[in-house]
Amino acid sequence: MKESLIFDLSREGRRGLRFGSTGVEEKPVGELVPEKHLRSKPAELPEVSEGEVVRHFIRLSTLNYHVDKNMYPLGSCTMKYNPKINDIASELEGFSAMHPLQPEETAQGSLRLMFELSGMLAEIAGMDAVTLQPAAGAHGELTGILLIRKYHESKGSKRTRLLVVDSAHGTNPASAAIAGYEIVSVKSNAEGRTDIDDLREKLTPDVAALMLTNPNTLGLFEKDIKTIEKLVHGNGSLLYMDGANMNALMGITRPGDMGFDIVHYNLHKTFSAPHGGGGPGSGPVGVRGKLAPFLPVPVVEKVEENGLVRYRLSAARPESIGRMMNFYGNFGVLVRAYTYIRMLGPDGVRRVSENAIINANYLLSKLLDKFELPYPKPVMHEFCLSGDRQKKEHNVKTLDMAKRLLDYGFHAPTVYFPLIVSEALMIEPTETETRETLDAFADALLAIADEAALSPETVLDAPESTPVRRLDEARASRTLDICCSGCAGSM
Ligand SMILES: *Cc1c(COP(=O)(O)O)cnc(C)c1O
Repeated sequence: MKESLIFDLSREGRRGLRFGSTGVEEKPVGELVPEKHLRSKPAELPEVSEGEVVRHFIRLSTLNYHVDKNMYPLGSCTMKYNPKINDIASELEGFSAMHPLQPEETAQGSLRLMFELSGMLAEIAGMDAVTLQPAAGAHGELTGILLIRKYHESKGSKRTRLLVVDSAHGTNPASAAIAGYEIVSVKSNAEGRTDIDDLREKLTPDVAALMLTNPNTLGLFEKDIKTIEKLVHGNGSLLYMDGANMNALMGITRPGDMGFDIVHYNLHKTFSAPHGGGGPGSGPVGVRGKLAPFLPVPVVEKVEENGLVRYRLSAARPESIGRMMNFYGNFGVLVRAYTYIRMLGPDGVRRVSENAIINANYLLSKLLDKFELPYPKPVMHEFCLSGDRQKKEHNVKTLDMAKRLLDYGFHAPTVYFPLIVSEALMIEPTETETRETLDAFADALLAIADEAALSPETVLDAPESTPVRRLDEARASRTLDICCSGCAGSM
């Protein structure tokens, strides 16, 4: 199906809405707005009827793949179904019509929500204090790294290196580099976990911290976390956890209990705020008490005066790293995460992680016959297959199989990440998928493996059912052209 641009649907004089007279006396336009600010010709807006507008956007929405349409197995990204109650709560007027500069006395409910959400996140990760300011996971990492720097500075020591494991998400080294650190890569071992000997060797006195993802991006739990913790702390370094994979841990174990000093959360992944369209995210950061004085300001505090509880914003933190964002973070996402956790309750939060792990292992067991698993099971909430067999035997690459999945009505998994797996297919089903959906997805991938062997051209030519076939993705992003046909080439 092809959909025209709304500009091409335009017909002169067509209207969706006609305004009646307002009864207000009309004045010459130049009298209200100075002549020099007036348009010389009318804005070139599409002229369409209400029905055309509705149908146009409904049709567009069905061209797109989204998590309300079907399973979205994008590994590491945690594309779970997001309960609509979260959106309903965030749209309540008391939240959505707030102004960030409103006086504190009129914002007590919102401040309480932030205070309680920080507390719940701290409890889930075993941390002492949480800031809600950062706007995404990567922004949380940057915040965490600035906290690490401030911590070492407060001890009068200047450490210049950060260790990052080679299976890490690309944002880890990127955040470390933005904060001005030299990045040293630590190897993974044959099991896909941190190579302890390599870590020991690289843990020099100038190392500020080790950034670790647990479970890591292969979906594997760091069994030696206690040994790692002793080595890192023994060196006077801090231990940072990329908590984007918290979906595997909640209610079962806690980063704080493992000895991590800092962790970031991805509310838009684990805590069920919609993401993937470039919309607002949220990457709160939790810390142990020794790092709390450095957290960004303002901090929400709960105070009791004359038997009355109230919440206030405090900037009185002389050692703070300062603001990471204007105002208080992406508040709408905070409301969604708060609603999500409150709806689940402590038992529900644990069930999320248990089911995420069961779903991943169930799906993996169905795929093992036809795909290679480069690192041994069992996995946590996600797993990483390799398309090496299909590439070697039939010259069909992971990218081809990912494109073919679109014809089967599924979004592709994450591909070619983490970098340590060749032809990587990284799959995270999440807890929100039913057994029937998991079966259907497994059947699709297995059918594609058969096609790769029997009729490879079907896979190599895919997708055939999508509005556009294979795009030159590099060219599309380098020579972006978002103009309508009327203005094409004017960029
Ligand atoms: C998503 C993710 C990040 C980055 O989070 P953003 O919100 O996309 O900035 C970091 N680490 C891991 C493991 C992730 O999955």
